Amino acid sequence: MKISIVIPAYNEEENIHYLYDELNSVFGPLDSEHEFLFIDDGSSDSTLDVLRIIQEQDPHVKIISLRKNFGQTAAMSAGFDFASGDVIVTMDADLQNDPQDIPQLIDKINEGYDVVTGWRFDRKDAFLNRRLPSIIANKIISWTTQVSLHDYGCTLKAFRREVIKNIKLYGEMHRFIPAIASGMGISFTEIKVNHRPRRFGTSKYGISRTIRVVLDLITVKFLLSYSTRPIQVFGLLGVISGSIGILIALVMTIQRQFFGVPIADRPLLLLAILLIFVGIQFISIGLIAELQSRTYHESQQKPVYFVRDVYGIKDVANKRDY
Ligand code: UDP
Ligand code: MG
Repeated sequence: MKISIVIPAYNEEENIHYLYDELNSVFGPLDSEHEFLFIDDGSSDSTLDVLRIIQEQDPHVKIISLRKNFGQTAAMSAGFDFASGDVIVTMDADLQNDPQDIPQLIDKINEGYDVVTGWRFDRKDAFLNRRLPSIIANKIISWTTQVSLHDYGCTLKAFRREVIKNIKLYGEMHRFIPAIASGMGISFTEIKVNHRPRRFGTSKYGISRTIRVVLDLITVKFLLSYSTRPIQVFGLLGVISGSIGILIALVMTIQRQFFGVPIADRPLLLLAILLIFVGIQFISIGLIAELQSRTYHESQQKPVYFVRDVYGIKDVANKRDY
């Protein structure tokens, strides 16, 4: 079983050497096949130079150098595209994750789990602008995605190849990989991992990330629950809103026609019109989303199902990567 370690690095020049040494001390004694796949995410410091010196001496080290800074999620995607392992482990380049935890993650994969995530139970980051928003975000994500983990943000995770190769990542979505993968029907578990304070370089994120995470969460929730049947969400809302509107309008029409009640100055009339309009809008959005969802699935040959295994059939594209 080959293991790929995917490590996005953006301006981490001081950390790379230490990280490489730590990785070697973990993988040296193991007789597994492995590769360390570093993604230089358009660093403006000497990260790439440091990596290239290491790479020249060690064929296990591979580097993908991106043309500019595309962000952590995109860098990780690049790593996934190039990774050749059966198991793919992701981690930060800043030494906050501990390579010593990797064998435990692999053990869990060997036990049969498809995804193993790290839980930084003793997280070494500032409380107010990092840990507190993260606690709140984790609760919200747990609740909306029904994938209950303590810590979504921890980069130290291990995936089976077929899970990762079926997922496309956008925005800030790397933290949602377990949630997105849960839509494929995978099994996952969480283990406690070590977390260390950043010694060199600075964090690339601040409090503003929280908002982006929440927005991404809405997308993920939608994709997970409704991407193959948007009309059932929007249509339902539209039908409810439209029916209430029509009902109110009907009652008012009867009042006006048969009982001579004036309706022009009644706010209820406006409400009825609003509800009918909103209803029509929702249904139209639902129909457009239905068209979009067909484009989304068919243009990428994205299946609406995932096969665990087949019996008596040679191999099926949908189970492995394609
Ligand atoms: N990173 C990256 N591209 C970016 C921002 C970050 O590749 O645009 C990498 C960074 O080098 C590190 C990891 O993503 O290896 C996590 O970043 P950071 O340590 O700043 O995040 P934090 O631990 O503070 O959440
Ligand atoms: Mg960090």
